Amino acid sequence: RKIFTDFPICGTFELSADDAHHVVVVLRHTVGDTLNVTDCTGATYECFITRMEGHSAYLTPARKLSDGPSANGKVILAAGLLKGDKFDWVVQKATELGVGRIVPVQMEHCVVKLDDKRRQARLGRWQRLALEAAKQCGRDDVPEVAPVMSFTELVDAYADTRFIIPYEQETAPLSEACHDVRTGDAVIAIGPEGGYAEKEIAYATQHLAWCRTVSLGPRILRAETASLAALSIIMYERGF
Ligand code: SAM
Repeated sequence: RKIFTDFPICGTFELSADDAHHVVVVLRHTVGDTLNVTDCTGATYECFITRMEGHSAYLTPARKLSDGPSANGKVILAAGLLKGDKFDWVVQKATELGVGRIVPVQMEHCVVKLDDKRRQARLGRWQRLALEAAKQCGRDDVPEVAPVMSFTELVDAYADTRFIIPYEQETAPLSEACHDVRTGDAVIAIGPEGGYAEKEIAYATQHLAWCRTVSLGPRILRAETASLAALSIIMYERGF
């Protein structure tokens, strides 16, 4: 299991309680042992355990092993909020597939409407799920889960990023747009259970510098299936 920090490593630091338990109690490491730790920038360091107090462990970086994700850019999954725990599932599976960032979007046809308090609680849960999934699948970085935003906020925030919108009414296949997003940052934006509102598609096509609406085939996929199918295809085209 990988160890991540949610801060940049630049000197001696204390492991989180969860990681310390794993290192001290489960793996029975001791002072002087080395561990590889990846920080929030994606950089990985070889670190010595320099101090232990009860179940706390303090590590000191000895050398940098890698700089983290390449300059190839990120695939950003923006997806409409979903009912129940379906968005949890999207966060976990998208992390396994190598997503660079996840943006939950409150869209017009979302069945779920989250107030500020619930948005904060969900965001914390999704960030924890992304961290756990990244550890589980052996990624070198943890994808950021951004705060919930509206669709217009999403478009305005990524106005200069290439943007792919799977849309049931489109016939041009995703594969045709893929060769334009083989490198660099790209957003893939999936509608909620109720699909896109026409005015959302209109806003996107008017305000984005580069936007393609695409088909994911003749069958209407559930929103969570659509997120993971589209992400799988794009990651494959980018060489994972
Ligand atoms: N209720 C909507 C309808 O019947 O028009 C279906 C929405 S679908 C469950 C959720 C989202 O998945 C859509 O907004 C779209 O982004 C994506 N999606 C699902 N199937 C698709 C397909 N065959 N082609 C393109 N996008 C698709």
